[in-house]
Amino acid sequence: MEPFALHHPSYLTIENWTKLFPELLAGMTTKHGGTSKGFFQTLNMGFHVGDRIDDVVENRQKLSVLLDFPLNGWVGAEQTHDIVLKKVSRIDRGTGAESYQNAFKGTDGFYTDEPGILLTLCFADCVPLYFAAPKFKMIGLAHAGWKGTVREIARQMVQAWRNEGIPPEEIYIAIGPSICEECYIVDNHVVNLVENILEDVDEKPYNLISDGQYSLNLRQLNRQILLKAGIPVRNILMTGYCTSCHDLFFSHRKDQGKTGRMLSFIGWKEI
Ligand SMILES: [Zn+2]
Repeated sequence: MEPFALHHPSYLTIENWTKLFPELLAGMTTKHGGTSKGFFQTLNMGFHVGDRIDDVVENRQKLSVLLDFPLNGWVGAEQTHDIVLKKVSRIDRGTGAESYQNAFKGTDGFYTDEPGILLTLCFADCVPLYFAAPKFKMIGLAHAGWKGTVREIARQMVQAWRNEGIPPEEIYIAIGPSICEECYIVDNHVVNLVENILEDVDEKPYNLISDGQYSLNLRQLNRQILLKAGIPVRNILMTGYCTSCHDLFFSHRKDQGKTGRMLSFIGWKEI
């Protein structure tokens, strides 16, 4: 069953998690319902893509009202396809929420065990990874494009949580809307890097389609990395939504680089 459900024209949520933990807010925006124009119409959440900053702030304010999660509780990052994770706390609230200049530099993942903080990252084809260990109140979000994926940002988060005393069996993961294997064609360079981390895995997440061209299933690759890191298979949800196939989303590949960004988010609401 598809774990991500369209809760509103402007965003999807992870239904199962919401049912189990009503105070947990986790999901992803669509491209609909905002005020941005041109390439960014309409609900662009990214500050760094050339859109009018005022429109992006307005889009973010709209979403904060829809989610009932104040903008001054959000944190955001300047994402660099690296594997740096940042543990945030309440003093960080608002950082990167309304401007790119004060966002966390060089950060591709957040985690926290405090309520009232909405972890946010921007996406347009890359894989959003949602983490939750409700027993420990820990939640996390990571940005996994092919670079972050082959550098194993997924395993990095599991390791960071192990260091906090959280065993992998207590960690639940949702792999969110991102580019599907049919839409995602890569070359030998990328596939060689994938090979390096999947030596002992039989089922390869890629297929040769023509000379030096492969279709790569980035979602499946992240799933395999998580399984290797000790996450039980039953703990992992994976979406079928492709950001390129589906008209709900901005897609960096489909829109040839000139496009907006969706926002993935996870946070404990304050009660
Ligand atoms: Zn697709």
